[in-house]
Amino acid sequence: MTIEERVGLDRYTTLGTGGPARWFAAPGTIDELVEALAWAAGRGAPVATVGLGSNLLVHDEGVEALVLRLTGALAAVEIDGEVLVAGGGATNAVCLHRARAASLGGLEFASAIPGTTGGGVRMNAGAYGRDWRDILLDAVIVDADGARTVTLDELALSYRHSRLGPGEVVASVRFQLAARNPDEIKAEVRQLLAQRKATQPTNKRTFGSVFKNPEHELGAGSMLEACELKGHRIGGAVISPRHANFIENAGGATTADAVALMAEARRRAFARFDVSLEHEVRFLGPIELPPL
Ligand SMILES: Cc1cc2nc3c(=O)[nH]c(=O)nc-3n(C[C@H](O)[C@H](O)[C@H](O)COP(=O)(O)OP(=O)(O)OC[C@H]3O[C@@H](n4cnc5c(N)ncnc54)[C@H](O)[C@@H]3O)c2cc1C
Repeated sequence: MTIEERVGLDRYTTLGTGGPARWFAAPGTIDELVEALAWAAGRGAPVATVGLGSNLLVHDEGVEALVLRLTGALAAVEIDGEVLVAGGGATNAVCLHRARAASLGGLEFASAIPGTTGGGVRMNAGAYGRDWRDILLDAVIVDADGARTVTLDELALSYRHSRLGPGEVVASVRFQLAARNPDEIKAEVRQLLAQRKATQPTNKRTFGSVFKNPEHELGAGSMLEACELKGHRIGGAVISPRHANFIENAGGATTADAVALMAEARRRAFARFDVSLEHEVRFLGPIELPPL
């Protein structure tokens, strides 16, 4: 497996921003993944994994780390009875497609979540009242000490959170699905996607929800809309006119533009609602939001 140097990460994020990874590798097997992690441990280099980069902001100057993208067997999908076994780099879309072809339901809620199974574990991805907790049986986690299987309980998944530590890579997952007519699956997915299209900027470059919903009667999107932030622009980044908890790359955006918009949004939400919004999007590299 080759370790490349200074690979641009903008093409690995859905927003399309960010600088290079100091080192980059695309392991295709558990052995290659262990080898890459040992290589990083030998240099004392931090490790980060990118899935589809669909909830990720990478610093414009890049990141001083070994960045991994799982491929080959680590992105493959198999069906075993009513269990779907997928590499951590397998996309939700491919999992859903394979499940439907095998007349297995359970993943429909993930049809509008454009990530990988591993990114889904890290984020406990969810939509329409369901999340990874509802389908995940267990996961194989690899770190510098090797591979181990962890149970759902050990991962302690909660709202957009898991107990995965830095340098821990989700190499594979097992999802418990259930028999379902493929036409019913197709109909539900179509309906969920139409719902999304009506309320979110699905045809723009974004990174999904910017902030987690706070414990408040208003969600983050409604709060930011009330702060009149829809359409607010900094550089090439704009708060989506369709849904205020999304930031769009309107052309030539940088991560710094998106971060400046986030800082402004937090400042206004704090001033108006006395709420400190917590970012849902994950940061790669030395990105920080100014204190309120
Ligand atoms: C249009 C749009 C709609 C979205 N809708 C939703 C939604 O409804 N619900 C929702 O929950 N999210 C949503 N998202 C956000 C995003 O798709 C999810 O958070 C998704 O699970 C992220 O997966 P990813 O593979 O892209 O992870 P990335 O964005 O690449 O990474 C996210 C985090 O996971 C870590 N990670 C990635 N892969 C691994 C791995 N194999 N092992 C360990 N850590 C890993 C990364 O290091 C990072 O910390 C949306 C995003 C977009 C662009």
